Amino acid sequence: MQRRTKIVATLGPATDDILILTDMMRVGLDVARVNFSHGQQDDHARRIELVREAAARAGKIVGILADLGGPKIRIEGFREGRVRLREGERFALDPRLAADAGVQHEVGIAYGNLHRDVRPGDTLLLADGQIVLDVAAVEGPRVETVVRLGGELSNRKGLNRQGGGISAPALSDKDHDDIRFAARQEIDYIAVSFARDAADIREARTRLREWGGQGRIVAKIERHESVENLPSILDETDAVMVARGDLGVEMGYAEITGLQKTILHQARNKFRVAITATQMMESMIQSPMPTRAEVSDVANAVMDGTDAVMLSAETAVGRYPVKAVEAMAQVIVGAEKYQLSLQRARDRNAGHFTRNDEAIAMAVMYTANHMRVRAIVALTESGSTPLWMSRIRSDIPIYAFTRHAATARRVTLYRGVYPVAFDVTEPDTTHVQQSIFARLLELNLVEAGDHVIVTSGALTGVSGGTNTLQILEVTRK
Ligand code: ATP
Ligand code: MG
Ligand code: MG
Repeated sequence: MQRRTKIVATLGPATDDILILTDMMRVGLDVARVNFSHGQQDDHARRIELVREAAARAGKIVGILADLGGPKIRIEGFREGRVRLREGERFALDPRLAADAGVQHEVGIAYGNLHRDVRPGDTLLLADGQIVLDVAAVEGPRVETVVRLGGELSNRKGLNRQGGGISAPALSDKDHDDIRFAARQEIDYIAVSFARDAADIREARTRLREWGGQGRIVAKIERHESVENLPSILDETDAVMVARGDLGVEMGYAEITGLQKTILHQARNKFRVAITATQMMESMIQSPMPTRAEVSDVANAVMDGTDAVMLSAETAVGRYPVKAVEAMAQVIVGAEKYQLSLQRARDRNAGHFTRNDEAIAMAVMYTANHMRVRAIVALTESGSTPLWMSRIRSDIPIYAFTRHAATARRVTLYRGVYPVAFDVTEPDTTHVQQSIFARLLELNLVEAGDHVIVTSGALTGVSGGTNTLQILEVTRK
């Protein structure tokens, strides 16, 4: 059985080797994430180039997601790259320190106003809540703390105040510049960190389009306000990311599981794409094997209906980037095997269809799930028909046949959808049919005699124009 749930993996120093990156793609990487919080545009450009080269070598279509830094408060760096904080020790955050001057008892911080936002007795959380500091004193711009919960702390980790309260807008000047860069690089997905509401999403999209970018927008749900505004954010965005790191810090980690299920459920109901992220296989940063709890976490996200699961530090700085992707792929297939019997074609669609392509997509899935066809082929311009289809649970593969490279890369994130490069725009339908069969047979996706469903538009070349559904028997020419 083919894996349906997709894998997003973060790039970093550990993936800078073309052989490693190519292997990651061979074992399952579908979308590469470039985190704009770490490194400069030169680094990102180099990594994007490497993705394209590795994808060509692996013979695979791979999407790219750029994650904007957003208004996250971060510490600067350490002389040695990292320190180990121990309980009871003093540790200071001081904006006057140089970016790489951090040592055991102090580190720089780019945000100059921290001393105004905190007071003695406050709790600060570092690295998605893994390290806890108690504020002891504020001396000028310097914030003195005592380590309550220690651990290893490396460069540029995020800092939150317990109880939340970042007031900054989601898009900083740096983010605007990075959006322009993403447009130039023809990035497929732009993730908006700390989005508060639909207006943040709208702004990111407007900026991107102004620079000529055609990428889709991912709203990262990681802030109190974004949980409250989820319905309106879903109306505006193309995709959401359950960003469990900061979400767990803002909402308390005990809420994470319930929030994840709620967000994934609502996203699917509104025909939006969803990614589940952060610490999915965290132990694999150091270990070649995931823990049973991690296996269970990935499997549960799959069963909750996520489109994709994501790896962060596991691949960016981990010791086993290829093994992490491989393990994730195995867990997904294992989970999907059990999910099927549970919920075949139970999906509702009570609402009204507003578009032809949506109506066709729903008719296809109903037909496919009841007729047991071998495959669904959607001739698509923008990828919207396969997107509608993939919102309905099924175990039948949906092949997005497209002549646009950007569309092919876009659908890599959709659950159960696989891109196929296909460039036939002849008006002669028998010829098109034969070309589709030839392509399916060539890729070993079907055998002669199999039944497939093909959707297409009368006016090829028009996005949203899908208005036919055909049930065909595959023949060899
Ligand atoms: P975000 O809130 O956007 O997820 P993050 O700091 O958690 O930011 P991740 O991309 O989730 O970053 O990666 C987890 C960790 O892996 C980072 O905190 C960092 O230590 C390391 N890392 C990720 N990308 C890079 C990179 N390009 N260079 C160096 N270290 C990286
Ligand atoms: Mg985050
Ligand atoms: Mg993270």
